[in-house]
Amino acid sequence: MEKIHDLIIIGGGPAGYTAALYGARAGLDTLVIEKMTIGGQMTETGDIDNYPGFNEGIDGISLGMKMQAGAEKFGAVTIYDEVCAVSLSGEVKKISTAYSGELCARAVIIATGAGPRRLGLDGEDKLVGQGIHYCAHCEGRFYKGKTVAVIGGGNTAVGDALYLANLCERVYLIHRRDAFRAGKILSDALSSKENISLVMNAVPTEIITDGGFGITVKKRDGEEEKISCDGIFVSIGREPSTSLFAGEIQLDEAGYVVAGEDTKTSIPGVFAAGDVRTKELRQVITAASDGATAAHMAGEYLA
Ligand code: NAP
Repeated sequence: MEKIHDLIIIGGGPAGYTAALYGARAGLDTLVIEKMTIGGQMTETGDIDNYPGFNEGIDGISLGMKMQAGAEKFGAVTIYDEVCAVSLSGEVKKISTAYSGELCARAVIIATGAGPRRLGLDGEDKLVGQGIHYCAHCEGRFYKGKTVAVIGGGNTAVGDALYLANLCERVYLIHRRDAFRAGKILSDALSSKENISLVMNAVPTEIITDGGFGITVKKRDGEEEKISCDGIFVSIGREPSTSLFAGEIQLDEAGYVVAGEDTKTSIPGVFAAGDVRTKELRQVITAASDGATAAHMAGEYLA
């Protein structure tokens, strides 16, 4: 029979590795399953300066690796694999993976985080990394001296436009309304950059790939405008990575796992930590805090 671990944590971001640290340090046989990159969404952030203890700031990849090392020091084990299906309602939780077969545990912490929301336009998926991007701080440098479009009107989009304006010749900031959702300090800063062009009341309708690259937008008056650029940065918010759990665990209308500050989900022995759960503030520190709570709750559940 397959080994039954005490605790399996799905996701290797700050929530996942803090849970792993607390779980392993409390003596639980703890396994982390991470699909690809340690650090989760932190890896998309060049400089994290709001995580206590790093006064000079730290890049997300380094912080992720430190968190992993901290958990593994106490015996947590990482498996790099993709979870394909889960069966969580029984006493033994079953997790099917692409390469490591079925993994079992008596408690599970979901720490799968969130990912960028997509525009949903034709061809978008095929162009990811080749003209369509979701992380200005990771991939903006490829467009030094070029023209880019940023889509969105929140803090991320406006921050991305300001960041890219320092690298690129021209930045089109395309927003579907006439007012930014972003805070006043960031929005006001836009006027200080002469190379940012605002395209307001404009809904993206098509990615142009024929005879050049760019994006077509539909303006409020119904007119279409074609914007030529070398790259497009989509910054329209994030979506929780919860499709695996739909139908089994309670999700809210936006797809987040319903769980309070105690991280308990609708299934006994299953906890949700970090950006994946319903919560007010999604930050590295609140993800780490959730991870500690989830591991503590898992320990109590297993006792
Ligand atoms: P957000 O605040 O949810 O903003 C998403 C933006 O994308 C909105 O302007 C929205 O337009 C637009 N949008 C959504 N779906 C769209 C679609 N299909 N087509 C076109 N536009 C679309 O997301 P965010 O900017 O990523 O920020 C997420 C959270 O992190 C927020 O709480 C934010 O304050 C926080 N954050 C803070 C900072 C900071 O403090 N420096 C930096 C980054 C993020 P509408 O406005 O019309 O809905």
